[in-house]
Amino acid sequence: MVFIDDADQFPEEFPEGCADEAKSWPLGPLSLALYNHSDCARELVAAVLLLCDRQEPEVGWVINHFLMLLRRMLITSPTRLWLRDLLESGLLRALILMTLQCDPRLKPHVGYFLIVLLPASLVYFRTVVAYRNALKDVQDLLSGDALKQTPWYREGICRWEEFLTLADERLEVLTAHQSSSFEAQKACDNSECGSIGESSSLRRCSGCRAFYYCSVQCQRNDWELGHRNACRTHDRLLLCRSFGNFPGFFPT
Ligand SMILES: [Zn+2]
Ligand SMILES: [Zn+2]
Repeated sequence: MVFIDDADQFPEEFPEGCADEAKSWPLGPLSLALYNHSDCARELVAAVLLLCDRQEPEVGWVINHFLMLLRRMLITSPTRLWLRDLLESGLLRALILMTLQCDPRLKPHVGYFLIVLLPASLVYFRTVVAYRNALKDVQDLLSGDALKQTPWYREGICRWEEFLTLADERLEVLTAHQSSSFEAQKACDNSECGSIGESSSLRRCSGCRAFYYCSVQCQRNDWELGHRNACRTHDRLLLCRSFGNFPGFFPT
């Protein structure tokens, strides 16, 4: 850890053309090298998790350093990072352990994950699945009242309670979605109608098999309004499915 401290001093002078944002949150040479390989984000979380188990006072400094870097990667990295990857690497356990240890240097990071990053990412199906698995892994930490007794939890500083309530709601949606009781809702594709119903109650266009209508009349109207042409060309639009491999394009 002394080595990291020595090796990663922030530069005293910034290179010409350096962005203001980078100046306000500078990276030392070690952090810069890690930042340029944002694939290492999972390893950073694993390292934080390991360090959380150590009691030496200087550990908090290194964790602080790693979390700053991780946050910067999440916000600015050219390679899109997903919270679900970090949840699979032990992020939730690390956040709980940091809360139990209450190192004031780490409070802004824990708060940022719980208030900003995780709530925003729990709208994605795979992130909620990753969260559900992560939750099973931390039952040993959540089974008692230890977390609720921490000052950060009691004083609502990191908004643990709000986060856990929100996450529970998203888990309920996931469970409903995965059970047979859930049926997808669709809107009538006649733009002059747009009424919403369960997909099985709507009629599907037999030509493109992609447009849905609430009635024969709506299907006729939309045919005249332009679906006559759109139906034929729909297959060509399906080429855009190749973007499914493009990170962030279809965040499922
Ligand atoms: Zn309709
Ligand atoms: Zn059609």
